[in-house]
Amino acid sequence: MCFALRRKLPLTSALITATLLIAPTQASAPPTATPVFASEPHIAAEVQIPQRDPALETQLDQLLDSDLYPSDREALRQLLRTVDINTPVETFVRAHAYQVVALAHEQKMSAAMAIANEVQTIAEKSDNSNAIAEARVMLGEAHFAAADFEAALKHARHLTDLLHTVTQPRVRYTANHFIARALQQNGEFSEALEFLLAAQALVPQTEASGQQRRRQFLNLHLARIQANLGRWQASASTAEQAIADAKRSGITHHLPDLYLIRAYSQQYDQGPSDEIVAAFVAAAEAGRDMNNPRVEMLAFNNAGAAKLLMNELDAAREFLEQGLAVAKRINNVNERSVTEFNLGYIKVLQGQHQQGIAEMLAAAEVFNSFAQKREKAILLTHIAKAYEVAGDYQKQAQTLHQQVQLTAELAEEESNERISELQVRYQAAEKSYEIKLLEQQAELREKELAAQKRQYQFFVLAAGSLILLILLFAFGYRKTRKLNNLLNSANQELHQQSLRDPLTGLYNRRAIYDQLLRGDQRIYSGNHAVLILDIDHFKAINDRHGHNVGDEVLIEFGRRVKNALRRSDLAVRWGGEEFLLLLENVQADEALKVAGKLLQEIGERSFDTSAGPLPITVSGGFALVTASPNPPDWETTVKQVDELLYQAKREGRNRIRYQLPGEQPASLKLLR
Ligand code: GH3
Ligand code: MG
Ligand code: MG
Repeated sequence: MCFALRRKLPLTSALITATLLIAPTQASAPPTATPVFASEPHIAAEVQIPQRDPALETQLDQLLDSDLYPSDREALRQLLRTVDINTPVETFVRAHAYQVVALAHEQKMSAAMAIANEVQTIAEKSDNSNAIAEARVMLGEAHFAAADFEAALKHARHLTDLLHTVTQPRVRYTANHFIARALQQNGEFSEALEFLLAAQALVPQTEASGQQRRRQFLNLHLARIQANLGRWQASASTAEQAIADAKRSGITHHLPDLYLIRAYSQQYDQGPSDEIVAAFVAAAEAGRDMNNPRVEMLAFNNAGAAKLLMNELDAAREFLEQGLAVAKRINNVNERSVTEFNLGYIKVLQGQHQQGIAEMLAAAEVFNSFAQKREKAILLTHIAKAYEVAGDYQKQAQTLHQQVQLTAELAEEESNERISELQVRYQAAEKSYEIKLLEQQAELREKELAAQKRQYQFFVLAAGSLILLILLFAFGYRKTRKLNNLLNSANQELHQQSLRDPLTGLYNRRAIYDQLLRGDQRIYSGNHAVLILDIDHFKAINDRHGHNVGDEVLIEFGRRVKNALRRSDLAVRWGGEEFLLLLENVQADEALKVAGKLLQEIGERSFDTSAGPLPITVSGGFALVTASPNPPDWETTVKQVDELLYQAKREGRNRIRYQLPGEQPASLKLLR
């Protein structure tokens, strides 16, 4: 395979680097035509044995930055040197997928595609569905990065059909997420949302260190889809929550994007204002500070557009020019055209009619080559307005004609499910008839009737939109309800997730502080026990068997702890391998029983892990706390329990040390 790769790639300088990266490291690898995975046993389709290299997979996990993108090219290069024909196929494909996406991000498309096609062939030959799906995602992402959305969508559709065969959670997550973004780009928002939710449900099954980042990334997309659906308040509030989350967790990479989407949604919700402009400027500054020029550019342009809407033309121009400078610097042709369009519009409004319109039209031509229909329609509205300002009513009518046609097409496309086709055709026919009338009148009456005609056009358009809106409401009701349900469950799940530790499914620290201790009246009376458990020599497990095995132990540990507890008890993941348990309304003897049961649950049977059965023991401390007459002092209790835990460790581990009121501390050990 590697031989084939070397032969196939043309020898441009970019490709040479790429070729070297994918070539095997051993100089002795025989350049024969033997199929790469011929030595692998044949794998039955139903029971697919994973073909992954755990050590390399862990390295690949660590390679992802907070954008879940391998931006450290040198580290990737190093890693790829260790990937060769003997690497298991899933890991092989994943490693090269990162290489391809990285090349595509650098706009080295031909190098990216050459490798991508080879890797895909290898994946398909392997018959391994995880590898096949990962290769698809790779191709899709590469096209996405190169802004070839049509091709990306094609891969997304293909991937949708493959999804049910994929067994690896990370690949499932990645595939769902990619499909969601491709559909969103194509305007299929409700479908995108469904895939986004599927991705979200998979996050807890992906490797722990990337979960927080994955959630944030999903939240950003949720906010974008909500904005796409015109749910401005929901979008602003999702962004708001994600911003708070980002600040709390210290994973700040998406902040500029989040600031931008929040300001954007707020502007649509409340209309433009100086406050919103300031929010856009803040987003632009965050983009600049965090080396995210795309956000910097978009935020300046939005600030300019807001000022334009507020009719403060000079201020608008200043912002737009700042955005334009960034667009030029990063060579973003698309966004550059939007900005130049707006600048042309300002010229028209300031009296330079001919020049302004010429600039608008030139920019529109570029813009139309990548814009969605809805955006094109908005553009035409502004062009018509510019013609009106310039007094060219003939052109204004023509432009409106195009605009109405486009809107009708859009309605037809959008409403296939919502409105019966006949009604759409009726609408479209009605509209073009009205427009024809309009044009005839325009020809007949020319300028003296211009004012009257403008009013009429406005009336026709407004009435047309109104009828369409009513129909959309009537027929779109069911669809909307479904969407709302999806959005609500997304929000609820987000809330629930924010209270849970993703790895073990137990509550996290925030949950016990925010939700439980403060608000729960039950624990303001009676006796309770506070227990802290800490797994013994846990670091050694990580060191010996790897972080993944450590994670497996933590998951099983959480499960066993829950087994030993009663329904009313609370289990919280307190830190890495530390757990805090709150036993509600217990007496000393019951608490001791639970402590004994915990030691038993953990210590009696070894833990099944992918590294084989591992004996695990735990140390702990507990104390009782009485909630009346005064509310319990949790902080002091936790400190006391911590100290007892420390003593248990010093005494030799595998025990729970406790202190009952009025008695000396004592230790409970696992009886054999
Ligand atoms: P002791 O018996 O004294 O408690 O020793 P220990 O090794 O358990 O304690 P130590 O505090 O030295 O090490 C705890 C380790 O837990 C260090 C950290 O890397 C690891 N850890 C923390 N969180 C996670 C996690 O989410 N997954 C995994 N696999 N390891 C974790
Ligand atoms: Mg510890
Ligand atoms: Mg420990």
